[in-house]
Amino acid sequence: MATPILQIQGVAKHFGGFTALSDIHLEVAEGERLGLIGPNGSGKTTLINCISGALANDEGQILFQGRSLNGMQAHQRTRLGIARSFQIPKPFASMTVLQNVAIPLEYAGRHDAKRSIAEEARELLVAMRLGDLVDANAGALNQIELRKLELARAMAASPRLLISDEAMAGLSGNEVDEILDILFQVNERGVAVIMIEHIMRAVMRFSERIVVLDAGAKIAEGPPEAIVNNPDVERAYLGE
Ligand code: ADP
Ligand code: MG
Repeated sequence: MATPILQIQGVAKHFGGFTALSDIHLEVAEGERLGLIGPNGSGKTTLINCISGALANDEGQILFQGRSLNGMQAHQRTRLGIARSFQIPKPFASMTVLQNVAIPLEYAGRHDAKRSIAEEARELLVAMRLGDLVDANAGALNQIELRKLELARAMAASPRLLISDEAMAGLSGNEVDEILDILFQVNERGVAVIMIEHIMRAVMRFSERIVVLDAGAKIAEGPPEAIVNNPDVERAYLGE
C-alpha cells in the first residue's frame, strides 16, 4: 500500500490540566477527501493546529509523506506542503486581494520560479473565483469573498494537503455549494483535503470518509453512510 500523506499516531494535547486531545490515531491517503466532524469543543481545531504546527502535540507523532513533523515549525510544514485555512479569516485588510495571495505565495517558497508572483496570484484567484476582485481592498470583502480569499491564501502554498476549518459557517445554501465546488476542484488537482464542517449536507457530499471527534477522542470513523447511522455519533451531537 502507498504511504499515507498524513499519519497521526497516538497524538495527545493538554492545556494545563485539560485534555483537548487524547491518543488520536488517524491516516489520510494521498488525494483523499476526509471529513472531520464533532461537537463544538471536541478538539477539531486543536488537531489541525497540531498538524500545521501552530501547536506542538504533547504525545505521539505526526508524519507527513512518511516524515516526522516533530519539532518542526509551522512555516517548515507549509514548505513541505501542508496548508490550512483559519476558522476566522484574517486577511491583511489594508491590502488588495492580489497582495494577500502574493505574500503567502512568496513566503511558502513553492511557487513556479519561471513565472512572476503576480501572474501566479492572479491565476490562483481566478481558480478560486475571485478573478473580478484582484484589485479590491481585502477589507471591503463580504463573508463568502473572505472565505474564498482565506482558501486562496492557503492554496498559495501549493499544498499537497489542504485543511479547511469551517470555511462554510454562516454562508447561505448557494454559497455553501460554491465553496464545495472550489474544494472539489482543488481535490481534482490531486490535493488531499481535510474538511472540518458543521454543515452535514456538505460534509456528507464531500467526504469519502468521515472521522468523528468527541471530547478529544476519536469516537467513529467510516464512510458517510455509516457515520450518519452510528448511535455513538448521534449521542455525541445530542449531548451538545
Ligand atoms: P473545536 O474546533 O472542535 O470546536 P477546539 O479544538 O477549538 O474545538 O477546542 C477543544 C477544547 O480545547 C475546547 O474545550 C477549548 O476551549 C480548548 N482549547 C482550545 N485551544 C485552547 C488553548 N489555546 N488554551 C486552552 N484551552 C484551549
Ligand atoms: Mg474549531
